[in-house]
Amino acid sequence: MSDNGASKPGPTPGDRTVIGITFGNSNSSIAYTVDDKAEVIANEDGDRQIPTILSYVDGDEYYGQQAKNFLVRNPKNTVAYFRDFLGKEFKLIDPTHNHASAHPQETDDTVSFTIKDKEGEEAETSTLTVSEVATRYLRRLVGAASEYLGKKVTSAVITIPTNFNDKQKAALIAAAAAADLEVMQLISEPVAAVLAYDARPEAQIEDKIVVVADLGGTRSDVAVVASRGGMYTILATVHDYEFAGFALDKVLIDHFAKEFIKKHPGAGDPRENPRSLAKLRLEAESTKKALSLGSNASFSVESLINGLDFASTINRLRYETIARTVFEGFNRLVESAIKKAGLDVLDVDEVILSGGTAHTPRIAGNFRYIFPQSTRILAPSTEPTAINPSELQARGAALQASLIQEYEAEDIEQSTHAAVTTVPHITNAIGVISLSESGEEVFVPIVPPETAVPARRTVHVAAPKDGGDVLVKVVEGNTHIKVTKPEPKVKENGDSKAAKVEDADEDEADGDASDFSDDEDEEEEEKREKVWKIGSTLAEAAIRGVKKGGKVEVTINVNADLSVIVTTREVGGKGGVRGTLSA
Ligand code: ATP
Ligand code: MG
Repeated sequence: MSDNGASKPGPTPGDRTVIGITFGNSNSSIAYTVDDKAEVIANEDGDRQIPTILSYVDGDEYYGQQAKNFLVRNPKNTVAYFRDFLGKEFKLIDPTHNHASAHPQETDDTVSFTIKDKEGEEAETSTLTVSEVATRYLRRLVGAASEYLGKKVTSAVITIPTNFNDKQKAALIAAAAAADLEVMQLISEPVAAVLAYDARPEAQIEDKIVVVADLGGTRSDVAVVASRGGMYTILATVHDYEFAGFALDKVLIDHFAKEFIKKHPGAGDPRENPRSLAKLRLEAESTKKALSLGSNASFSVESLINGLDFASTINRLRYETIARTVFEGFNRLVESAIKKAGLDVLDVDEVILSGGTAHTPRIAGNFRYIFPQSTRILAPSTEPTAINPSELQARGAALQASLIQEYEAEDIEQSTHAAVTTVPHITNAIGVISLSESGEEVFVPIVPPETAVPARRTVHVAAPKDGGDVLVKVVEGNTHIKVTKPEPKVKENGDSKAAKVEDADEDEADGDASDFSDDEDEEEEEKREKVWKIGSTLAEAAIRGVKKGGKVEVTINVNADLSVIVTTREVGGKGGVRGTLSA
């Protein structure tokens, strides 16, 4: 372990040059903030998504896209997909993605790679721990950022998955320290994505439930985040290592390999030859990216096998058909995260699509179908003002870095800036009862469920038209989903709805990916709406003789220990009623 440097005193706040870093298994990005706006930095190759890969050729070190290209000709001396191994025991890692590059092995309870990183045919190999690999890679990122900014970068905020444990965090901090980089703070990837959106000048910081679907290359992570008064609380997370960009590459690899075999019977299966497979993989990924932009894409590999070139094309509809199982996997991840949070799709105000795979239009299109119209789906294909999903996390990290750069290291953890995540929160909503036009009691939420405490909210309740007594009843409320089943309808030709649904299923089996339609039979779908249920009463107060047209102000304070203080007074009036109760 190279944790040398970890104990060196960090730079003093005034001397810092700070950036945000997102460090993924597949790609990393660096970003900085200028005039309160975060920008992702292109490295010397012009890349903003920098593959998290190092490769050594004749003692020279390559990183990023150049290193990725060496996966074809120099796989043994190329180290890829290592971020998740930091701080982990060898027996706990999943080496699935390392079979086509340097293999992970065990050294002193940690993961290492043996590669030739020195010049000369006879040069000895080196065994580098995953921490050393991370240090070398981070050094390159910092180098690129320093060159761009024209001054040495000293410090960073780095994003990490929500399931990184303390050992993984410590290993990352130590690896950065060894690269002479102070980690001011580690923030969770989904919170960084939310920060990037909330920092936009036009953003209204309102109470909301946000689902962050971070769809990467080797993993997908979904988080349900409650944003209340500028504080973020993570309510539930789901992690998945099957449904991710890699699975989509595989769909295309298999598709084109089969086409090649059909065209050249006897040439062999290119997937069985490591070099051919590496070529297929690189080309499949670029075809996949092209299909996010256009409705057609080409696929071409020189000398795929036995000197045979291969060229073909695919259209988006075909791709969406063959990749359908993977796309459906993404839907399930999102649905299961919402369920885990005890919520319903109707509770979700925004879905932020983050990570490279989130560029795929079909995925955002499917989410559009799952959620009600009132939910904003923030992806390039569904929302013209969406931020590039590949840049969200780095931008969020850069914004956080610029916010905390003035703090002394020991004060950062206490900083009240928005990165705080798991804070105490109330489960039910708190609100008042008011009378509907039909005289029914209805619940009006004031403090939404999942609000981080302490919290304080104030509302005005109107007095009766001609003035008089106002009775304020403060209660807890929770939502449930009211389902109204459609009336069974008989079609003109006598077919019932059930028969119609069967028809639709058959169409789906034909594999037409475009039939995720939401217009057909819409009026026959069951209606689902969120309704409030009145829970226990917390306080009641009567304000006598309120003036005509007057208002009563109700303030609800929820303390950190979850006790509630309710204050009511006539607006413009003196005094008031104050009650304290404990939860
Ligand atoms: P992980 O840690 O999950 O491996 P990451 O966070 O390092 O991933 P990201 O850059 O978020 O990496 O995601 C990489 C994945 O996104 C790759 O599978 C890549 O092919 C895919 N991807 C990148 N751009 C696009 C695009 N425009 N359309 C579709 N997929 C894309
Ligand atoms: Mg990621």
